[in-house]
Amino acid sequence: MSSHGSPWPAEGARLVLVLLVLGALGWILGSVTLGLLVGALGYLGWNVYNQLLLERWLREGRKLEPPASHGLWGDIFNGLHRLQQRQRFRRKRLTRILQGVRETINAMPDAAVILRGNGEIQWWNVAARDLLGLNWPQDEGQRIDNLLREPRFGAFIRERHAAAAAITVASPVDEALVLEIRVIPYGLNQRLLLARDITRLYQLERMRRDFVANVSHELRTPLTVIAGLAETLDDMVPERLPEAVRPLALITQQTQRMQRLVEDLLMLSRLEMEQKPVEPKPVDVPRMLTLLAEEARTLGADKRQSVVLDLDRDWCVLGDESELRSAFSNLVFNAVKYTPAEGRVIIRWKSLDGGVRFEVEDTGAGIPAHHLPRLTERFYRVDGGRSSRTGGTGLGLAIVKHVLGRHGVELEIRSEVGRGSTFFCTFPASKVVDCSRPAMTGAGG
Ligand code: ADP
Repeated sequence: MSSHGSPWPAEGARLVLVLLVLGALGWILGSVTLGLLVGALGYLGWNVYNQLLLERWLREGRKLEPPASHGLWGDIFNGLHRLQQRQRFRRKRLTRILQGVRETINAMPDAAVILRGNGEIQWWNVAARDLLGLNWPQDEGQRIDNLLREPRFGAFIRERHAAAAAITVASPVDEALVLEIRVIPYGLNQRLLLARDITRLYQLERMRRDFVANVSHELRTPLTVIAGLAETLDDMVPERLPEAVRPLALITQQTQRMQRLVEDLLMLSRLEMEQKPVEPKPVDVPRMLTLLAEEARTLGADKRQSVVLDLDRDWCVLGDESELRSAFSNLVFNAVKYTPAEGRVIIRWKSLDGGVRFEVEDTGAGIPAHHLPRLTERFYRVDGGRSSRTGGTGLGLAIVKHVLGRHGVELEIRSEVGRGSTFFCTFPASKVVDCSRPAMTGAGG
């Protein structure tokens, strides 16, 4: 069975030889034509026989060795056999690689689940069995949101977030396990779901929150006592001990500051611990802002500031009234606090294309741009001295950010040093209702 060079000359020679021999035999027997015909038929028969062999070999497939043959057919069989072996080898290597990848993914402590575009489960690793309770084979092809029934997860998986987005849910296997889940799109309409056990982190975070809340709560009573005593002394001291007047005023001032701090810390803890989303009730923002403007005028009276209102009175917002009042008042009072005498503060509530915007503009000192990204962090202050003089707690903007976040809007800040600042946020049309329509009052969503 030669496998070198082209088989065609040898095959041609074979045909010519067969025809020559049989032609000669025919000539001897008296009919060259008959001889040639027998030769041609014989050659054809041999070819058909080999075709049959080939067909049977391909059909039975599993047989390793090709049928034995000579010449061109031998070469064809050998060529096909070589191809087959090469492919078998490649398949084995791929299987080995795939096996390795699977073993690696199975060794991961995080759950990995491969999803089809519509959320059907295609494959998962061992950790997914333990953390998400996926069972082979009955869960294959199921939709992931049928197995993880938490409604927030259902919404999360339908929304198709960026890869960085994550959601925290309890494990369906064990309520005490807290999972952080991410869904990463890849390939052609496929998604990789990764779930990480963050129970310890979650517990630590809760301990921190509880600790701050507890300390604040414990400080409340003694502070109330001190404030009360300071007030009593304040009534007695002036005649008997004039030198104590100033220290006493300081005690009162600092006690009040600590009380504000404790209240702000408690408010932040409450906002952080609140699991339930805001219950959307119509809030009459124009009315709220009118009252806030009055308070702001009183607050800034000795600085002769003007507080200007510019309101679209038709629009109410769906949200939590006391939370929103706290956020808006922080922004309005900050504007008054950080704007010097004769300055101006404008409070706006204006409808625009995509919704309604709340805005507080002031003619204060402004904030250098590099401070802006960190401004809403707790206790972050641009100018520590000035802030403590104004009696701020450093928690105001953190509260604002939290409240607005709970209402699905974002605090934005524009500021120019020497000219003033504008703090604003835009409520989308879906959160805005017409104040004048009583039908909407009490619309719980
Ligand atoms: P504070 O209680 O110190 O006012 P906030 O969280 O309310 O704390 O504000 C954080 C810091 O942001 C303030 O200390 C102040 O430096 C700056 N800031 C806030 N509002 C304004 C404003 N309208 N103009 C200038 N600076 C501001």
